Amino acid sequence: MIIDSHVHLKHGDAAATEYTPEQIIEVMDAAGIDRSVVFAMSTTTRRSIEMACDAVERFPDRLIPYVYALPSYERPVIDELREAIVDLGFRGIKLHIGECRLKEYIADPVFALAGELGVPCLIDLGGDLATAERIAAAFPQTKLIYAHFGRYLCTDAKLIDSFIALAERHHNVWLDAAGVVLDWTIAEAVRRIGAGRVLFGTDGPHPAPTPVDMARNGIRQIEMLDISQDDKAMVLGGSIARLLGV
Ligand SMILES: [Zn+2]
Repeated sequence: MIIDSHVHLKHGDAAATEYTPEQIIEVMDAAGIDRSVVFAMSTTTRRSIEMACDAVERFPDRLIPYVYALPSYERPVIDELREAIVDLGFRGIKLHIGECRLKEYIADPVFALAGELGVPCLIDLGGDLATAERIAAAFPQTKLIYAHFGRYLCTDAKLIDSFIALAERHHNVWLDAAGVVLDWTIAEAVRRIGAGRVLFGTDGPHPAPTPVDMARNGIRQIEMLDISQDDKAMVLGGSIARLLGV
C-alpha cells in the first residue's frame, strides 16, 4: 500500500493554491497512491478543519485529515485542535514556521496537546535546526515529523546530515522525504534511523511537470534508492500507517 503522507488541500505558496479533493484523488489514482494525508494551510485553524472535513466526507477511505495549527492572538486554537482530533477524527497536526513562529510561547501548547492526544505533528521548520532540537528535547512524548528532512528542496548536505543526526538522538522524530532533492540522503536516513521513521510524501499536488508526473516521480525516487524492498515498502506507506495506526 502506498500512502502519501504530505498533500495540500491548500498550499503555502505565494498564491495559496487550492486543490479540490477530486483533483487530489485523480492524481492518486493515476500515480497508484492508495491513501493520502491531507491538510490546508495559509488559512485559519477553523477553515482548515472545514476543508479537510469536507474532503474526508467525500473520500473517507482514501483521505486522512490533519488539522492546521495557526496559533492566534485573537482566539486560542487549542480547543479547536482538540475538538478536531477527539470529536472529528483528525489524525495529526500541521505547523509551519513561515506562517507562525515556533517560539515556546506560541507553539509549545500545540506540541503538548499532540503529545497528550498521541497524534503526530508535521512541522515545516524552514531549516531551523536549533528549533528542531529544542522541540524534540522538550517534548519527548510527542511524535514529531520534520518535513522535507528539515528544509524544502535543500541542497546543503551538511544541514540534512544534521537533521538525520538529530533524529538518531531523538526517537520521537520522523523525517518526511517530501521535497528532498538529494536522493541519497533518504537512503542514508533509512540506514541510520530505520525505514520506519522515514515517510514518503509528495507535498503535492504540484503543477510541474504535471501533478501526476510529480507524484510518480516521488514514488520512483523511493523505488530507485539503494535500500531493501522491505525498506522501500516501509517508506512508501508502512511507516506512516504504523505512525497513524491506519
Ligand atoms: Zn507542504
